[in-house]
Amino acid sequence: MFHRRLKFLPKLSISQRFYAIIFIITAVLILQIGIFWSAVYVLSSLRAYVGAEGSWAMSQKASMSSLLRYSTSFKQKDYDDFQSFLDVPLGDKQARLELLKPSPDLSIVREGFIRGENHPADIDRMIFLLKHFRNVNYLQQAIVIWAQGDVLIEKQRDLGVRMHENVSTTRTSNPNVLYERIKPLVAEAVENDKVLTTIEKQLSTILGEAAREIRQLLLYAVFGFTVVFGFFAAMLTLYISRLVRQVDKAKSEFIALASHQLRSPLSVISLSAELLKNSGVPKTEVDKGAIEDILQQVSQMSELIEATLNVSRIELGSLVVETDPIDIMAFARVQVETMQVIAHAKGMSLSATCTPEKYLVPMDAVLLRVIFQNILSNAIKYTPAGGEVHLAVELQASEILISVSDTGPGIPEEFHQHIFSKLYRTPQAQKSAEGGSGLGLYIVKSIVTAAKGRIWFNSREGEGATFFVSLPLYGMKKIKGNVRL
Ligand code: ADP
Repeated sequence: MFHRRLKFLPKLSISQRFYAIIFIITAVLILQIGIFWSAVYVLSSLRAYVGAEGSWAMSQKASMSSLLRYSTSFKQKDYDDFQSFLDVPLGDKQARLELLKPSPDLSIVREGFIRGENHPADIDRMIFLLKHFRNVNYLQQAIVIWAQGDVLIEKQRDLGVRMHENVSTTRTSNPNVLYERIKPLVAEAVENDKVLTTIEKQLSTILGEAAREIRQLLLYAVFGFTVVFGFFAAMLTLYISRLVRQVDKAKSEFIALASHQLRSPLSVISLSAELLKNSGVPKTEVDKGAIEDILQQVSQMSELIEATLNVSRIELGSLVVETDPIDIMAFARVQVETMQVIAHAKGMSLSATCTPEKYLVPMDAVLLRVIFQNILSNAIKYTPAGGEVHLAVELQASEILISVSDTGPGIPEEFHQHIFSKLYRTPQAQKSAEGGSGLGLYIVKSIVTAAKGRIWFNSREGEGATFFVSLPLYGMKKIKGNVRL
């Protein structure tokens, strides 16, 4: 379904498709980070306003207390306190009025917010919110209430100034006379303060509601986007895995075809070389050596092609396992027999212990042969002349254990993890004169795994190696599969 939606992708080459997918994922990720960042930014801007409202209200209260103190003490200090506390809401007012202009002077706005005792780090956020969200319902209401509050603050300042003028111009030191003169102003200031208190409450409620609502909204947005993105990513992953499988299949099919095509010319070369060798035409040692070289190279190449074909078959599908009752002990002894010639030529001893004498079990003879031949031929190949190779087949509680040990150079610990990987050969093997493809153990492992068995080895550098294959006591189970070796 998703595959069909990405119709434009199949028109691109495989690498272009991958780039397109990486581009899409990166773009969506950047978008998501952007949304998340904006959410956090907007919320922290609101929090800054909630804090600003708090100090606005506190300063207003403090200015009122100073004014009331002044109305009985008539001390200049109390009057100065009144003015300086009032400067906080007046600073905020300066910022608000400037910001609401079509092209505000941001230095005036900043100066206002600093006078309003806002934290300098919050000021840019406060500017951002008021500039871009002033038309959002809650903020619009908050601005109207804030403006009403500012009118009352101005009135409060006016009343204070008038009290101060009255006190300064009255020529008496009698506090009762002084108080009587400013009494109506004090009463008006108290009334004004009451209205201001109501307004502060409204402002704080509306900001709180705005914060809650916006947080909820942003949460939904982030959550919704994450779900959509998650779904999108899952679909893309499916698409990519499908693509990779297609590429892999195409590659394996190509290798299978190429290897198959290579077989016929190779057998012609091999046959011709054999004919030439037996024709008596090559007389000199150089000619004979050249023909032996051809035969050896052709044989190595055939092995390589066989292994490559097997790997591509394994990778093209699942292995067919066909079973017949086989005496695995006799089977093992035959495998050892066929290898004796090579071992003998190398001056090595090749022995086997198979207990019990006979054990009939359902097995796929082709696959079993590949297992034995690979581990046995590896042991003979990597063990120097004069060494020993021993095969053991025994029955354990729940498995048939096959082991092949040799007195060869062993495998250094650092390479252990790679031994069953496709095309892997240790540096020692690469340096040695022995040919190899690095595919044998990979194939054996694939077969053993398909047959529900296990394969592993023990080895230390310089101390030989023992390869183990364990197969279930009940033998191999038939698998329909779709590829044969
Ligand atoms: P190759 O065709 O190279 O033998 P394999 O897949 O059969 O490929 O083996 C992988 C590598 O494991 C070999 O190249 C060799 O380095 C190492 N190896 C396998 N068997 C032995 C052994 N008995 N002793 C030492 N090294 C071994």
